[in-house]
Amino acid sequence: MEHSTGHHHGCCQGEHSSRRGFLKLATLGAGVTLMAPMMVSRPAQAGGVDTLLLTCMDYRLMARVAEYMEGRSLKEKYDHIVLAGASLGALNDKKPAWGEAFWDEVEIARDLHHVKRLIVMDHRDCGAYKAFLNLDLAADPRRESDVHGQYLTKLRTIAKQRHPDLEVELLIMDLDGKVETLAV
Ligand SMILES: [Zn+2]
Repeated sequence: MEHSTGHHHGCCQGEHSSRRGFLKLATLGAGVTLMAPMMVSRPAQAGGVDTLLLTCMDYRLMARVAEYMEGRSLKEKYDHIVLAGASLGALNDKKPAWGEAFWDEVEIARDLHHVKRLIVMDHRDCGAYKAFLNLDLAADPRRESDVHGQYLTKLRTIAKQRHPDLEVELLIMDLDGKVETLAV
């Protein structure tokens, strides 16, 4: 368009191929739309998914999180939301969009899979606590538990306000994969 005095032929070719590209995308879009209802209805029919898990993004723990869920007989039976900092991520006033996305996804999980339980799993030595709160808590596990406990319980309070029938579990994992339940 900037080169209106230039090569007409080249210009038309460009337009043509971009229109073809659009058609290809439109076709893909239709396929996705057709498949979505099947993917959604299968787990609901099986009645196998009742849990929504929130964890941090930390790569060191992903395999251990999966092992933990498998140990609770929940393998491939949970929806999983990932936010840096887990409870802190959902409550982070420096990143309000994260909290919005979190609550939106809680609603989607409830609508699609009728989840009845939210498991919030924080973890020790979490980089998000350093990045957002400037707190390096790894050297003081009791203080670390206290600080995580504040965010975990705050998130549970809000979750209960929004979804009174939602069961909420609060957990902290250490870097070896050991999981403690928050006793509050
Ligand atoms: Zn983390």
